[in-house]
Formats: sequence, C-alpha cells, structure tokens
Amino acid sequence: MKPGLLQFKKASQIANQLDITCWIGYSGKASEADMDERAIYIDLNEAITIQQFWSLFFHELAHVWCYDHDKYYIYHNDALPHKQLGDYIRRMGLRIERYVDKVGKKLMKQYFPRMRYLPAYKSKTDVQFYKDWVKTNYPL
Ligand SMILES: [Zn+2]
Repeated sequence: MKPGLLQFKKASQIANQLDITCWIGYSGKASEADMDERAIYIDLNEAITIQQFWSLFFHELAHVWCYDHDKYYIYHNDALPHKQLGDYIRRMGLRIERYVDKVGKKLMKQYFPRMRYLPAYKSKTDVQFYKDWVKTNYPL
C-alpha cells in the first residue's frame, strides 16, 4: 500500500515531538536530514510502500538522533574542510550509514514494533547510489 495522509500526519507528529520539522514531497532530490534547519525531508519517489516510507523516515530521524547524541560528530556536523571531509566520508561513510540504519531500526521498533525496518544501505544498488553521491559531492 502507498503511504498517504495518515502516515504523513503521524510522521509530522513523531518528528515534532523531537522538535524536528518533517517535509514530505516529490522534489526528486534524495531524502535527507538537515541539521542546521533541524528538518528531515522524505522524497516519496523513494517511498513507494508504507514500509519503505517508515523505514526512510526513521533512517533520516536517526541522523538527527546521532547529531543530538554526538555520534559520528564529524559526519553529522560537517566538521572538516570540504576536501578532508571527502576523504573521511570515503573511508567512513558507509560504516556510518549502517550505524544510522541500526539506530533507525531501533527507533522504528518503538513506534511500529511489528513492522520490519528496511535498511537504506544493504543492497548493491543502494551502496552504488551512495558511492555515486560521494563522487558527485566530494570529487577527488
Ligand atoms: Zn543516511
């Protein structure tokens, strides 16, 4: 089933409780968490099913959780000059994203104990997507 108004409202509620703004739409750019704005953005092109929607939502929420708990500080605060940050991300990025998936899974369990979390970075396609994103944003 496709996610709809019911899910969007609930997502905003959960995010707002954590003082986070939640944007949901079809911008075509990848879903992301913006620490400066304390906002997460969910792109519905990436969330075809309700399970995908919640998994994506809790993945982005987990980025903010990591930010709040100083987990992988450099990654969540862009705390290096651009070039060094690129080197750091090439070395650590996927490991960090998988940690974020672990947190996301735990967070999702608190709200939807019976729904299975779909990790963002497990399949070959997802890993390639990440590598391409790094290449685009932090060219060598
Ligand atoms: Zn992520």
